[in-house]
Amino acid sequence: MRAFFFAVSLALAGLLAGCASHLIDRGAYFADTAHRAASADSRIRFLVMHYTAGDEVRSLAELTTGDVSAHYLVPEHPPLRGGRPVVWQLVPESRRAWHAGASFWQGTTELNAASIGIENVNLGPRDTSLGRVWQPYPPDQQDAIIRLAKDIVARYAIPPTRVVGHSDIAPQRKTDPGPLFPWKALYDAGVGAWPDAATVTAELAGRAPDAPADVRALQWKLARYGYEVATDGVLDERTRRVFAAFQMHFRPRDYSGVPDAQTDAIAQALLDKYMPEVARESVPPSP
Ligand SMILES: [Zn+2]
Repeated sequence: MRAFFFAVSLALAGLLAGCASHLIDRGAYFADTAHRAASADSRIRFLVMHYTAGDEVRSLAELTTGDVSAHYLVPEHPPLRGGRPVVWQLVPESRRAWHAGASFWQGTTELNAASIGIENVNLGPRDTSLGRVWQPYPPDQQDAIIRLAKDIVARYAIPPTRVVGHSDIAPQRKTDPGPLFPWKALYDAGVGAWPDAATVTAELAGRAPDAPADVRALQWKLARYGYEVATDGVLDERTRRVFAAFQMHFRPRDYSGVPDAQTDAIAQALLDKYMPEVARESVPPSP
């Protein structure tokens, strides 16, 4: 009798396994994947760009043995293989890399858990007698960054406003990837956000680009767009650093953090383009 039951259950298991490709054998149990939920999205929802502030040897050492890491490291001059660049992958995309630290974007905190991090070999800023000097990203490095970012954004369906710099998600602590990062070239290749020039001109509405802008209105627009910023109308150091981070990304020729009309017009043009549902909301009255 026992042998009979055994034979029957074996046959049944064979039948299930043979006929149902939605059954996954997990050893001690089966998982049936016949029903798929409609409501789900990728755990990877952001792409974060960095510079390493060091050369490749130092960057590789720090990112592989220290308490920071990133999924990818793009060399300053990536070697080519059959005409295609080779980048370092230091962490599998399914695992969390430690690149963002305390961070905030569009209501999400701790972006390490929800992002892919790309470190780019770049020395960062140097303070000279002529002021702060930034190291450019060479064309072959830009090309590699674009190829890599394009692939990641496509595979995880990351929307344009969620391709960000470390300085966007941690403006109080970080300035990477800096004002020379090729955000516009990335946009032209289909990665990330950029305002339409005609809309910026229209939003300027005849104001001089360097005319003063309303602090509270700009705070409000940047908060809507994704930044962690107060909306109290006070131009303190914290707010200034957020304005500077935004300018570094979208208006790199001047990232002083001064709220001017051009910055305001760029912010409005981005909302018009990417968040039309909130773009025309008026700034609520002061508390
Ligand atoms: Zn960083």
